[in-house]
Amino acid sequence: MKKYILSVDQGTTSSRAILFDHNGHVCSMAQREVECLFPKPGWVEADALGIWVSVIDVVNEVLVKENITMDSIDSIGITNQRETTIIWDKKTGLPVYHAIIWQSRQSADICDKFEDQKEFIHERTGLLINPYFSASKIRFILDHIPDGQKRAEEGELLFGTVDCWIIYKMTNGKVHATDATNASRTMLYNINTNKWDDELLKLFNIPKCILPEVLPSSYKYGPATFFSKDVEICGVAGDQQAALFGQTCFDVGESKNTYGTGCFMLLNTGNKPVISKKGLLTTVGWQIGDTVTYALEGSVFVGGAVVQWLRDQMRMLHEAAESEKFALEVEDTNGMYFVPAFVGLGTPYWDDDARGSAFGMTRGTTRSHFIRACLEAIDYQCKDVFEVMKEETHCSLKNLKVDGGATKNKFLMQFQSDILHVDIMLPACLETTALGVAYLAGLASGFYKDLAEIKSIHSYQAIFHPAMDEKVVKEKYDGWKKAIAATRQFK
Ligand code: ADP
Repeated sequence: MKKYILSVDQGTTSSRAILFDHNGHVCSMAQREVECLFPKPGWVEADALGIWVSVIDVVNEVLVKENITMDSIDSIGITNQRETTIIWDKKTGLPVYHAIIWQSRQSADICDKFEDQKEFIHERTGLLINPYFSASKIRFILDHIPDGQKRAEEGELLFGTVDCWIIYKMTNGKVHATDATNASRTMLYNINTNKWDDELLKLFNIPKCILPEVLPSSYKYGPATFFSKDVEICGVAGDQQAALFGQTCFDVGESKNTYGTGCFMLLNTGNKPVISKKGLLTTVGWQIGDTVTYALEGSVFVGGAVVQWLRDQMRMLHEAAESEKFALEVEDTNGMYFVPAFVGLGTPYWDDDARGSAFGMTRGTTRSHFIRACLEAIDYQCKDVFEVMKEETHCSLKNLKVDGGATKNKFLMQFQSDILHVDIMLPACLETTALGVAYLAGLASGFYKDLAEIKSIHSYQAIFHPAMDEKVVKEKYDGWKKAIAATRQFK
C-alpha cells in the first residue's frame, strides 16, 4: 500500500492538511479559512475550538479527496502559527479564553513592566521583549478570567501554543506536549539549558504546572486517537523553523527566506545559540534526539504587502503578478527609492515610528519606476537582514533558499541574487513549511532513514545566479542606506 505523511499546517488565516508521498511531492491538499476576531483596536484573537474544528475538517477532506483511509498514513506532522496562546480547562478540555494571536498587541502594557529586564530576558530566551511572544499573553489571560491565577496555581488550567492544542485534541487529552521550537517562542524557555526557566516563570508569575512537556521536533509524541485509526504524531515545529527544515538547511550557514506578506529569514547557526547585538532573534531551529540546532531569525514587516498596497491602495496594478512586467519595462528605478515602512521597520532597525517614504523622483519618474522601486525595496530590506546575519556569525553564506507567494516574481528573485551576490534557490515544492514537518515526522517514524536521504530527494525548480557588477551593487545599496536614514529622520 502506498504510504503518505499527513502534514497539518495551522496558520493565522487558514488551516491546511497536505499529503506528501515518499518523494516529498504534494499528493493532495485541503484548506479552510480561520476567522480572526478583532475585539478592540490592536487586539487579534480567534476561537480556539474553531481552530481545532478546522483541523478536523481539513484532515477528513484530504483523505476523502484521495480516497484513502488513515491506514495509508505513515505518521502525522504538525506545524503552526507561532506564539499564539491558548489556555484551557484540564477537566473539560474547553478553552477559558479565545486564542490570542501572535500579532495581537493587547499585552503591550504587561511587556512595558519588564522593560528593565530586557537584557536578562534576551540572554535566556534569545527574544526581545514584545507582546508577540506567549508569556505576556498568558499573563493577560490569567489576569482577565475569573480566578485565573488561582485556577492556574491549583492545576485546573493548561497552556499551549497551537501545536500543543492540536496534539492535546488529537490524542483525546492524553498528551500535553510541545516541541522545542515552539517552546522557544514563549519567552519562558531557556535556550541555553533547554528547559522551562524558573526565574522567568517567577518574573511573569506563571505557575509551572500549566506548561506542557517539551519534546524534540522529530519524536513519537503518541498516537492521534481522534481519527478512525490511531496514527502516531511524529513531527512538530513552528512554521518558520519547519520551513528552514523543509528547505533542507541542515548545515551551519544555510539559510532560507520566505517572501509572503512580510519576509522571514532564518539561518542555521549550529549547536550553540548565537545571541545577536543587532536585533536578530535567537531561536531553536529544531531538536532531533538530544541535539538542538539553533537559528538566527530576522523579519521584514512589509514584503509582498507592498505589492498588495500598489494594487489596492495606489491602483497601479490589477494583480500582483503584473508588478514583474512593469519592473522589467525599465532598466532601473531612475534613481528612485521607496521605503515601505508602513508599520515601522523590522530587523535590524526595530523602529516602530518610521513610516513609508519615497525619494529621488523627477518629472521622468513613471509608474514602472515606482513599481520597480517597491519590488527592489523588498530585496533591499532582506539584504539588510542578510548582512547582519553575515556580520554576527562570520558565516560565508553561499546561497539563500526561498519560498512564499512572492517568489513567483522572477525579477524580485534575480534582483535579490544580484544585490546579495549569492545564488537564490527556489525548491520544486514550495510548501516548505508542511514539507518540513513531513520530513521531521518521517525521520522519527522510519519513513526516512536519515538527513542524507532527505537531501537526495529534495530538488529545485530554479536557481538565480548573481549577474550585477559589484560596484553597481554598492552604489545602489548606498542609496538605499541613505533612504533609510532619511526615513528614520522624518518623524
Ligand atoms: P502569506 O502566507 O503571508 O499570506 P503568501 O506566501 O501567500 O503570503 O504570499 C502572498 C504575498 O505575495 C502577497 O503579499 C502578494 O502581494 C505577494 N505576491 C504574490 N504574487 C506576487 C508576484 N507575482 N509578485 C510580487 N508579489 C507577489
